[in-house]
Amino acid sequence: MIQAQGFVEAPLLDELFRLSKRPRPEDAQQALRDVRVQDTALAIAQKMRHLAMEEDATRAKSGERDRINYRGFYVGGVGIGVGLGRRSSVPYEWWAFAATNTKPSKKAAKYCAEMRIIRAAKEVRCVCIGGLVVLGENQPDGRSGELRKTLDPCGECRDCMRSPSNRYLFRQRTLIVTAQPLSQVRYVETLPRMMTAHHEKW
Ligand SMILES: [Zn+2]
Repeated sequence: MIQAQGFVEAPLLDELFRLSKRPRPEDAQQALRDVRVQDTALAIAQKMRHLAMEEDATRAKSGERDRINYRGFYVGGVGIGVGLGRRSSVPYEWWAFAATNTKPSKKAAKYCAEMRIIRAAKEVRCVCIGGLVVLGENQPDGRSGELRKTLDPCGECRDCMRSPSNRYLFRQRTLIVTAQPLSQVRYVETLPRMMTAHHEKW
């Protein structure tokens, strides 16, 4: 597995500290409107995607059967939020987490980058995911059939966000930034708008 977490997010945390040294949940929801934060988060998503591709190339060479993604569909994702601070003088602290998707074989269950981000947020008692970045080749959505210019979180991830045990992490103004690999095309929209594009309600 890729052991990159904790290091790849560092430049993004620097940018977030530049925005605010005492972040509030509202700052997390605004963070991806800042172009430097956006650029840095997208570069990290790109890096996660490339690490997965490199890892699979290595596994192919050494004859390993299991892959990170058996059909070569790589998605990088980054979550931006705030967690509870450890000192009363700092009520919240920035939180950032980068991940990739996995689907080792046709029979194996897929596990998306977004699902990893949600799981990680809960592990560290993150109280608000204000921004989510998804970078992958676009394809028609498996559930809604919509082909958008960039890749949105899939139907299962949308369910995962909406589920009663995870919904508290998100806000009406949580921003989703989606982009095509190695392209300047990127979209910034709120979570409810992204859901609407797939005929779903937030
Ligand atoms: Zn998904």
